[in-house]
Amino acid sequence: MDKDILWKTALATLQLDVSEAQFNTWFLGTKLTEFKEGFVQIACPNAYSKERLSKTHLSKIKKALEVASQQKLKIEIVVASQLKNQPVSSSGPLFTPPTPQKTPLEVSQSQHNLNKHYTFDNFVVGNSNRLAHAVALAIAQSPGNAPTNPFFLYSDVGLGKTHLVHAIGNYVLKKTPQAKVFYCSGENFTNELLESIQRKKPRTFREKFRKLDMLIVDDVQFIAGRDSTQEEFFNTFNTLHNEGRQIVLASDKPPHQIPRLEERLSSRFGGGMMSDIQTPDVDVRTAILRSKRAELNYQVDNQTLDFIAQVVVSNIRELLGTLSQVVIAAQSQGQLPTPEIARQVLGKTYQIQLDQAVTPKNIIKQVCDYFEISKKEIKSSCRLKKLVLPRQIAMYLLRAETGLPLTDVGDLLGGRDHTTIMHGIKKIEALRQTEQKLDADIHKIRHNLSPKR
Ligand code: ADP
Ligand code: MG
Repeated sequence: MDKDILWKTALATLQLDVSEAQFNTWFLGTKLTEFKEGFVQIACPNAYSKERLSKTHLSKIKKALEVASQQKLKIEIVVASQLKNQPVSSSGPLFTPPTPQKTPLEVSQSQHNLNKHYTFDNFVVGNSNRLAHAVALAIAQSPGNAPTNPFFLYSDVGLGKTHLVHAIGNYVLKKTPQAKVFYCSGENFTNELLESIQRKKPRTFREKFRKLDMLIVDDVQFIAGRDSTQEEFFNTFNTLHNEGRQIVLASDKPPHQIPRLEERLSSRFGGGMMSDIQTPDVDVRTAILRSKRAELNYQVDNQTLDFIAQVVVSNIRELLGTLSQVVIAAQSQGQLPTPEIARQVLGKTYQIQLDQAVTPKNIIKQVCDYFEISKKEIKSSCRLKKLVLPRQIAMYLLRAETGLPLTDVGDLLGGRDHTTIMHGIKKIEALRQTEQKLDADIHKIRHNLSPKR
């Protein structure tokens, strides 16, 4: 993969990961200057941004690059002007000095730390997150009600917690712009507290947090095991809670399973409404990809989206990262995305993640079993109606589930040429939109293929 494309792909992921202000300040002026043998060098405009990127964002950068390049990487961040042959000579934001971020004393509207792109409008609701979404929306509409205060949201990574808690904050601010809403991570909370102690200004810290209307703490598990932080958090929590201010917490585990979290905190955390987000099923994954396609105006056909949704199963961040990678990879080859390109991009991971049961042979077997026809019949040239439709469904599923090139699909189905296969796939795609029975048939075959999904 070309280094510019690699960085562009990683940036697409990072943009989703950090706030807009952070992205503009720290990432716009960067460039990937070296990429070889598991090593990546990133150049940034000055020592200050180097420090911020290394201290605060390195693990995110590493992860985004590793997902994009499909390999483990060592990352080095350097200052552009200190490179020998200064490859980062492009003008523009690279050399705009960053504005150092002020430590907010008082939370005003611009200091809420919310990323305005995370809203309820672009949050896709499905079986895996229906309850969490409903509770979040109810809280956004009417914050501070005892039964849903605090709201404790938990799940594995990449499943939408951060998105949902930002959506709550954004909704409240839209309705009540003067509301004092503040979003931070458990890590930010800890750092700010330590800083205020160092600078002997604990009161400023207290005043800031205890005056809020809504406190949102993401990855709250981070405060566990740190005595002074837990003490301060406990007091902040109580002050806000007693006054009916809404507290929203997100974590990778339910409170009682967070190691080294004080009992008094875990019982408070669990004292309101708890909800989890589960791994998304294939329908949610497909819906999320379609919604992203519309939002970003990507030109990707449903086949390719279905293929990505089949393969990337357990993490929505990776799912969306894959989509951008596929779009960029296609662009770099001067064509529109196809399942083949997706297959190339997914490379090794694809081998691991693709369900063992989803082999071309099994797909053909399941279609034949479902329609009670023989393999000989499905591969034959006979054009009886009872054979044509199953055959076309097999074409569709072979392509969608395995991303095989059209010619290979043709070979598997008795040596048909790629235009016949294309025609068959298009036909099923169109029919699925209008004929519920056929759509249900396809769901059932997919289920039989791999009952776990
Ligand atoms: P977590 O905080 O649980 O690790 P995030 O909220 O950061 O997960 O979600 C990862 C990415 O997936 C984000 O870009 C987010 O917008 C997206 N995402 C997660 N769930 C949904 C959803 N239901 N609809 C749309 N996008 C989603
Ligand atoms: Mg998160």
